Amino acid sequence: MYSDWEELEEACKKCKKCKLANLRKNVVIGVGNKNADLMFIGEGPGADEDEQGIPFVGKAGQLMNMAFNAIGINRDEVYIANIVKCRPPNNRNPEQDEADACLDYLRNQVMFVKPKVVVLLGSVALKNILGKDYGITSARGNWVEKNGITYMPTFHPAALLRDGTKKILFWKDLKEVKKKIESI
Ligand code: URA
Ligand code: SF4
Repeated sequence: MYSDWEELEEACKKCKKCKLANLRKNVVIGVGNKNADLMFIGEGPGADEDEQGIPFVGKAGQLMNMAFNAIGINRDEVYIANIVKCRPPNNRNPEQDEADACLDYLRNQVMFVKPKVVVLLGSVALKNILGKDYGITSARGNWVEKNGITYMPTFHPAALLRDGTKKILFWKDLKEVKKKIESI
């Protein structure tokens, strides 16, 4: 547990807690409003994110930005982070030891931000935050309450790039989220 953002960010920047440390160009900690009511959790940095040190700036991020614009979610007003902060090689999923090593930082970030609603983007975020018993196909679109936070699991934007039929559901889930945020 870190006492403030500066301590947390310093620890992340020099972190060597898992095997992804030696492969990274940049640690991708998070971006956006550190007092946001709404937070998004993805999987891990890709090549563009590793290059720039900012989450969701590549193709998946651009698709997410389009959805934000269409639905009226301001990217600057939300906070965005990932399960792991260093890029897994060839964009593979983070392995369990990597996610386990990194999750303390993310939990700390959630404690600092104190979001009302957290959107879990895809299976990796869902299983690491809410538990292995959840599956994205059945969980998506349904609110889950846990420890005072309201979670909305939905598809990862990269999944929409592979299967366009998922877009409509992703849009629908984000609209629900927008409605919820406006009602609290
Ligand atoms: N995919 C993710 O899960 N996170 C990013 O930051 C970018 C792509
Ligand atoms: Fe540390 Fe997380 Fe990077 Fe692993 S992925 S080295 S735990 S910051």
